[in-house]
Amino acid sequence: ITILGIESSCDDTAAAIVRVGSEATVLSSVVKGQNDLHADFGGVVPEIAARAHAERVDLCVEAALAETGLALTDLDGIAVTSGPGLIGGVLSGVMCAKGIAAATGLPIVGVNHLAGHALTPRLTDNVTFPYLMLLVSGGHCQFLIAEGPDRFRRIGGTIDDAPGEAFDKTARLLGLPQPGGPHVEKSAANGDPKRFKLPRPLLDRPGCDMSFSGLKTALLRARDAVVDEKGGLTVQDRADLAAAFQASVTDILVEKTRRALLEYRELNPVNSVFAIAGGVAANGPIRAALMDLCAKLETEFTAPPMALCTDNAAMIAYAGAERLMNGDVDDMTFKARPRWPLDDRAAAMLGSGK
Ligand code: ATP
Ligand code: FE
Repeated sequence: ITILGIESSCDDTAAAIVRVGSEATVLSSVVKGQNDLHADFGGVVPEIAARAHAERVDLCVEAALAETGLALTDLDGIAVTSGPGLIGGVLSGVMCAKGIAAATGLPIVGVNHLAGHALTPRLTDNVTFPYLMLLVSGGHCQFLIAEGPDRFRRIGGTIDDAPGEAFDKTARLLGLPQPGGPHVEKSAANGDPKRFKLPRPLLDRPGCDMSFSGLKTALLRARDAVVDEKGGLTVQDRADLAAAFQASVTDILVEKTRRALLEYRELNPVNSVFAIAGGVAANGPIRAALMDLCAKLETEFTAPPMALCTDNAAMIAYAGAERLMNGDVDDMTFKARPRWPLDDRAAAMLGSGK
């Protein structure tokens, strides 16, 4: 089947066409970022994001279709992110998708943005259920056992900030642009990770829960020890601080992944694939360290190409296709949801009604 995906839950407006048969193929994937619009504010401004999504979502859909040469009538369905995320943005995407569905009569599916990230290993590498994964992004960090397109079990994760958020805060502290991840990674590559000592929270505790909020306080203190009177940092100080941060996050993720893998193996001795997804999965040192770990533990490792780690609509189209192929279609009354946890238990606590 051929499906249109639409994504607008944060600060990227995206549309994609994905074809799913025995394998999945991304026919087109258009992402229009908003970094320029939010640059002056040091973070994403929800109102500005919502307006930009509303203005751009149709254009993204047109562009995604144009790249493939297909018309709406060639499609078999529409998938749209219906949460979680900034509600104004999610609404823009959902309205656009419902409009197209009403005009064409195509079936529509409201997709959980996190399910999009979590199913990406199936889109890119045909990974079969069940598999263990680390979803590590701007707002989330969790070890999930993916059991089906709509079934995820969380076996641990952050108890406070997400690593992406920590990368973004670190960039702010170091005077680097947003989103911070790629800039901190680049600066860290020229730094000495041993010059500043940052903590590795929760490593002394059993289990695979993680904590990242203490890092920024520690980093702030380390920075304040070296800034000049005007608050400026030398290029080398900045690189060393970034490297210390990068090393700390990498160490935490590696050690907790080791524990998650061992725990998962007890439950699932046969299948041992480990996948990562989400924006922070685009980080080179983190990918390399997790790949090393998996090699040591004789576990197959998969990580999506960078463009499918950060927000995109191909993952939404794919997640929608999985549901459509299972006959799981939404009616037009599904809502945009600001909060929508992935795992069964948390969703039940919030009321998982669509
Ligand atoms: P969520 O998916 O949790 O709702 P989101 O959609 O905002 O949040 P993503 O687009 O998946 O998050 O990821 C964006 C985050 O990834 C940002 O915090 C960004 O700094 C981080 N990120 C992107 N590239 C890198 C990188 N190379 N290294 C580290 N972090 C990165
Ligand atoms: Fe995301």
